[in-house]
Amino acid sequence: MLKEQEIYTVTIEDLTHQGEGVGKVEGFPLFVQGTIPGDLAKVRMDKKRKNFGHASLVELIKPSEDRVESVCPYHHHCGGCQTLTLSYEAQLKYKDKKVRDTIQRIGKINKEIRPILGMKEPYRYRNKAQFPIGLEEGEAVIGFFQRGSHDIVSIDDCKIQHPFNKEIIKTLKKYIRENKVSIYNEKTEKGLLRHLVTKVGFQSEEQMIILVINGESLPKEKELIDRITQAFPRVKSIVINKNTKKTNVIMGSKNRVLYGQEYMVDTLCNLEFQISPHAFYQVNPIQTEILYEQVVEMTALEGNETVLDVYCGIGTISLLMARTAEKVIGVENVEAAVQDAKINAKRNHITNAEFHAADAEVFIPELALQKAKPEVVVVDPPRKGCDEAVLEAIVTLSPQKIVYVSCNPSTLARDLKYLDNKGYQVEIIQPVDLFPNTVHVECVVLMSRV
Ligand code: SAH
Repeated sequence: MLKEQEIYTVTIEDLTHQGEGVGKVEGFPLFVQGTIPGDLAKVRMDKKRKNFGHASLVELIKPSEDRVESVCPYHHHCGGCQTLTLSYEAQLKYKDKKVRDTIQRIGKINKEIRPILGMKEPYRYRNKAQFPIGLEEGEAVIGFFQRGSHDIVSIDDCKIQHPFNKEIIKTLKKYIRENKVSIYNEKTEKGLLRHLVTKVGFQSEEQMIILVINGESLPKEKELIDRITQAFPRVKSIVINKNTKKTNVIMGSKNRVLYGQEYMVDTLCNLEFQISPHAFYQVNPIQTEILYEQVVEMTALEGNETVLDVYCGIGTISLLMARTAEKVIGVENVEAAVQDAKINAKRNHITNAEFHAADAEVFIPELALQKAKPEVVVVDPPRKGCDEAVLEAIVTLSPQKIVYVSCNPSTLARDLKYLDNKGYQVEIIQPVDLFPNTVHVECVVLMSRV
């Protein structure tokens, strides 16, 4: 019987979904923050639950062979990256294992997966950052939420973000200080400035800044615009987003353009895309091209197909498909993203793609009632996976191929199982590392009707 506050020696064998090391003592699993597979460690059990315990690291007796020096000084506290001390090679192995195990365990599908496609340089890959702003001893701090809390870790630079962020943080802090801008307090719900959101086009080099505020306007807006545009001539858009609600959702629904346009443009797979503040755009553009190439290869279009792109965002996959398909139908429930998708079709002189603003769980069943017959269906849902109504309707549509793009192996496995039971066979499982140094992993799966 293990007890709370006792010290145990444990060999770490695995990682949890949150990136904690897992090791067993007398068959009882302990989750230990700050450890990685291969570590031999002395740990203290802080909290005992029914089937596992939370423990903290007391001493690293023998470090894992996969251990590396973290490139980030904040990695102990910041909730962003979880696996900075695990070598990149070992991270990739871990992700392969996670995908394989999850698809077997939850999906009951025994299919070899293809080795994950990793990055050459697994840093500075993100094109989007959302920094909470807080106060520490009267000074504004900009950074990230601490792991498991809403305390802010003040940071100067984030190694997975574009270097632009480092500079804009400095500029914004100076503006806050000089104009005594009040900072939002989650507890009292008072104060103005809440979040700094940045987007950067890796190919276009365009930049967008969104300032989320609890109110209508910022002090000395004209001066702020001058400061930013003089220091950063690539900034094409500065937007004020109003969020006066007590919520963890970062952005409110209303935007006001402070400078430039209400969007940023980037290029991906030789197509140009405009991206609005509220629209989704994959955060790792280098790996996204690799991911989308996989989608193109798996769909293997010949030219006479109708393709349905469910959860299409700003139309990235749709427009890629439209280059070869006869017709593409995209559906997405963020109105601004659908507007972007329509304009993106025009930007790229694509006339065989149509976009609908609707909930997939409403739109796809309607399409099935209309007896539409797409040959290929691509789905790229959020983390919670596809609604069962969507899967059911896809089965009724009866496409030859389904390509499933997923950022969550658990819901992917659940949905694959559903489709497998309805006569779709998994042909290819291809993980892609879109999120180096974190526990997250993207997958593309090809299924065909048997
Ligand atoms: N395929 C796109 C977007 C994928 S992200 C790309 O690669 O860029 C998932 C998208 O699904 C987001 O744009 C989100 O707004 C949208 N979404 C979430 N729930 C939805 C629903 N119930 N119906 C339609 N779209 C939804």
